[in-house]
Amino acid sequence: MISLPSGEFLDLTINQLMIPSERVAHVQMGNNLEHALLVLTKSGYTAIPVLDPHYKLHGLISTPIIMDSILGLERIEFEQLENKRVEEVMKSSIPRVAISASISECLELLVNQPFLCIENEEGYFEGILPRSTVLNQLDKVVKKLKN
Ligand code: AMP
Repeated sequence: MISLPSGEFLDLTINQLMIPSERVAHVQMGNNLEHALLVLTKSGYTAIPVLDPHYKLHGLISTPIIMDSILGLERIEFEQLENKRVEEVMKSSIPRVAISASISECLELLVNQPFLCIENEEGYFEGILPRSTVLNQLDKVVKKLKN
């Protein structure tokens, strides 16, 4: 049985690990799917948050969701990209984590999510916590323990 030394991993805060909102690629409510696909493709991410002008989180948009929404019976209807808006197709039911939550709570959620959206007490978007960041920290602790 390995016990994690305190201060090494479980005492880390979300604030210390998250990517702050100003560095998170996102789209806004009202943007069309053409714009969203452009941001997704240019950023290289598969999914990004959908925010309103006040930085409240409304959902996530991804390349598979967009492609599925323009899939016709016989062809991909690219001309629809311009007319559809992100809020019509985005995934609205997503895990939202308070910035005060513990890293162990995040770890549990990250088993099934590539990243978590972090909100403050007023429900404003603060940033994201990618699974890779948390695994990186855990990897450092495990390597230390082995030495
Ligand atoms: P990573 O673990 O760094 O590969 O990130 C996992 C996922 O988190 C990516 O596929 C994106 O969906 C999201 N992500 C990571 N960094 C950013 C960022 N700066 N802006 C928007 N989304 C991000």
